[in-house]
Amino acid sequence: SGAWEPLYRVVLLGDPGVGKTSLVSLFAGVQERDVLEQHGEAAYERTLCVDGEETTLLVMDTWEPEHQCLQVGNAYVIVYSVTDRGSFESASELRIQLRRARQPEDIPIILVGNKSDLVRSREVSVEEGRACAAVFGCKFIETSAALQHNVAELFEGVVRQLRLRRGGK
Ligand code: GDP
Repeated sequence: SGAWEPLYRVVLLGDPGVGKTSLVSLFAGVQERDVLEQHGEAAYERTLCVDGEETTLLVMDTWEPEHQCLQVGNAYVIVYSVTDRGSFESASELRIQLRRARQPEDIPIILVGNKSDLVRSREVSVEEGRACAAVFGCKFIETSAALQHNVAELFEGVVRQLRLRRGGK
């Protein structure tokens, strides 16, 4: 479209196996025609209509908290698996690294507890996730990529958080 639309870079961080690629694939849709290769990382661009307004997100699926991905994001999605306490602890570590890298900036961060469908192997409760997000000063959502539960809500939430800070961009 020729309309004037802002483009925002959204970076997914989290331990291997927590479901980053699965979440990004759902965001991208089944046909992966908009894949851009950047330093071996996949990036998907999609325009979402949220609250009657279009916003374009370039979502980057990364597996390592490399310096560059801590620098380039306009928003961050930190993913852990509710079935993997180690990944929950890594999420805290990533939050600390992000704060160090981008100290003075007020960047939207969404903490995501994925694999909420795996009820019987859950190791991290909803309350723990919520409490952690409160300490981090960020948003929180539980998702299931397998059931496609809350995935659209996650990316809509990212758009709303970006718009809240638009004035300062
Ligand atoms: P990544 O390494 O963080 O990109 O994780 P992947 O997206 O590759 O997912 C790792 C594994 O977990 C794959 O076998 C996925 O099918 C599975 N997985 C991802 N999300 C979910 C989920 O919400 N529920 C369940 N049950 N499995 C999931």
